[in-house]
Amino acid sequence: MKSTRRRFMAVSAVSVASLVTSKVAFAQPMLEESAPQAVALGYVEDAANVDTAKFAKYQKGQVCSNCQLYTAKDDKVGACSIFPGKLVAGPGWCNLWVKKAG
Ligand code: SF4
Repeated sequence: MKSTRRRFMAVSAVSVASLVTSKVAFAQPMLEESAPQAVALGYVEDAANVDTAKFAKYQKGQVCSNCQLYTAKDDKVGACSIFPGKLVAGPGWCNLWVKKAG
């Protein structure tokens, strides 16, 4: 019985922490394509608009939502460790794209 209550408390604490974290994450502004670091890395909100002449590494199918550096619960908007404090578009892309493991 004690073990069940302890487990419930632990799960509750993790759930509350997750809610707070996700709320904070989605309070962040979207990264603008015109931001200097975004321009330098060829970031676009829609991978269909990648400047392939400048960023030849891009291959069809690469998007933020399947990049290793993208963290989110869905594929529309998420955080990226390259752009702290900003959100990136799931269908976006930049030159640091790395295939998500697994
Ligand atoms: Fe998107 Fe990955 Fe570039 Fe971040 S590093 S902007 S998730 S492609």
